[in-house]
Amino acid sequence: MKKSALLFLSLMTSFTIMADNQVVSPDGKIVVRISTDEGRPHYYVAYQGQEVVKSSALGLLTNIGDYTQGLVEKGFESKTVKDSYSMANIKQSRVDYEATEAVVRYEQDGKPAMNITFRVSNRDVAFRYTIYPKKETRVCVVEREASSFALPDGTTTFLCPQSKPMGGFARTSPSYETSYTLDEPAGKNGWGEGYTFPCLFRTSADNWVLISETGTDGGYVGCRLLNEQGNTYAIGFPQEGEMNGIGSTTPAMALPGSTPWRTITVGPLANIVETTVPFDLVEQKYKASQTYTYGKGSWSWIIGMDPSCNYDEQKRYIDFSAAMGWQSVLIDAFWDQQIGYERMAELSRYAQTKGVGIFLWYNSNGSWNDAPQTPIGKLNNARIRRQEMQWMKDNGIRGIKVDFFGGDKQPMMQLYEDILSDANDFGLLCIFHGCTLPRGWERMYPNYVASEAVLASENLHFGQGSCDAEARNGCIHPFIRNTVGSMDFGGSTLNKFYGADNKRGTVRRTSDVYALATAVLFQSAVQHFAMAPNNLTDAPAWAVEFMKQVPTTWDEVKFIDGYPGKYIIMARRTGDKWFVVGINAEEQPLKKTITLPMFEKGTSLTIYSDDAQLNGSVKTVAQNKKQQLTITIPCNGGVVITNE
Ligand code: CA
Repeated sequence: MKKSALLFLSLMTSFTIMADNQVVSPDGKIVVRISTDEGRPHYYVAYQGQEVVKSSALGLLTNIGDYTQGLVEKGFESKTVKDSYSMANIKQSRVDYEATEAVVRYEQDGKPAMNITFRVSNRDVAFRYTIYPKKETRVCVVEREASSFALPDGTTTFLCPQSKPMGGFARTSPSYETSYTLDEPAGKNGWGEGYTFPCLFRTSADNWVLISETGTDGGYVGCRLLNEQGNTYAIGFPQEGEMNGIGSTTPAMALPGSTPWRTITVGPLANIVETTVPFDLVEQKYKASQTYTYGKGSWSWIIGMDPSCNYDEQKRYIDFSAAMGWQSVLIDAFWDQQIGYERMAELSRYAQTKGVGIFLWYNSNGSWNDAPQTPIGKLNNARIRRQEMQWMKDNGIRGIKVDFFGGDKQPMMQLYEDILSDANDFGLLCIFHGCTLPRGWERMYPNYVASEAVLASENLHFGQGSCDAEARNGCIHPFIRNTVGSMDFGGSTLNKFYGADNKRGTVRRTSDVYALATAVLFQSAVQHFAMAPNNLTDAPAWAVEFMKQVPTTWDEVKFIDGYPGKYIIMARRTGDKWFVVGINAEEQPLKKTITLPMFEKGTSLTIYSDDAQLNGSVKTVAQNKKQQLTITIPCNGGVVITNE
């Protein structure tokens, strides 16, 4: 299936052979050099003349041959590739992609052994391997990937440690839900198991490097990044214990076959925040069965937890969604026991009369962990899954949220794909929780919406420590987790407390304007916000009004200023309306004069901002001649600037 990806772009073909195997981005800023020293392939990356990845290893060790050494370079072809595509469910609705593609062909023992394909666009370097059949041998197991990333001396790291398998709640780890370490020197290996993608590095005062992967499906495993030594990192496969110990840690491929893409986004932070590389390199795997619509909704569980998944409370949340003009309601765990299938059908009919669609929660198990929440045993088996989805279709259910997956081994990656493609047959959108990072899935699977794969809003309910660190974490995600894929965070509550009476529970430290700002900052085409029905009367009217109107799909993203874990100011556009948003996690108030060229002189701007006590207010000003604005964001506060 992957070999067709080599052909999928319309090409402006030129054919060149260069002596030193150099691949240059269309704007000339990124230079990649590929060399073979004593049979071992290496690559090197520079951005504007500065080294960002030092000479690093390439190659695969397979059970049909060692393609990390003894290789003879037999050809180097380079051409320009272009592709334009439109997607409503990522950070940018239309992407005009242009890159230099280079294919290096290697032989071993006089026979074609492996190709390495490089793609170098103006922000990103990507490469992947293609392995060929060997005589009658038409399948292989990849035992190890030699791909490494040697970063310059002085590099600091912004990383999310991989947890050990079969740990945490109900032995559900790893599920990409650990705390980031920020600005640390390189050389550690997380908690001994490396790091979850994507991984951010600062290689110099000006340059950043974001390493990730894309195009992963049931044809491979989900990978992680291991520290080899010092500043050198390498691709790691899943851990033995994942998926309750069943299944291999290594991927098997039919030949010829290609690995997923290794991606390296380089340059200033704007390149990191605005990259579309996860989507540029993949193709749609099946057609959408219908035109999927996105939007926002409410979700009782984040405030009311499991007991709230009952008929009366869900009816109240359906009414709340309708009052907000929102499109959906997400009904979480135990609905099958606490509401039941018959009354759920009734509830769905009621929701439809209100113009509200229902998303239903499911446990992905199976046999990969101890998570007891129901419905369970419904989505892990194709026969039962399709019956269940038929019931959903018959009863007008809009989508599913599937939780508690079992790691990154190949059969688990296949399960994600199987759930997605079956769900498409029944017109269902898919959200994943307790899960892996999406790797280009918004484009590969048209009914895919978003994944958790982050310490999401549930932790704000579970512990005060998460509430205290909410702004710090919020200032990380736009640079790392959320830049490579839609993030189902479930935030933007306007409650003071994470409790049903809004009088008890963990205490929210962030301001109402912060809640508004993160509704824009955190990108997912479907958002189930943590607002509660009581917010219609106990939250400021301007905040409720904003949350009624805020878009969930975007045409464009622009990074303005920020630093991971400290503060971020960025802008998203839908149509001709821009939302410039900022949040601050630093103790000192952030005072910045920002240039906003998207608003012409005289444009009437609505500004939501906080005073020093985090009390929010709204004012209207006219854009000045310099198109500049001075903003102050207190710690745990936010700002939102939008045109009428
Ligand atoms: Ca979770």
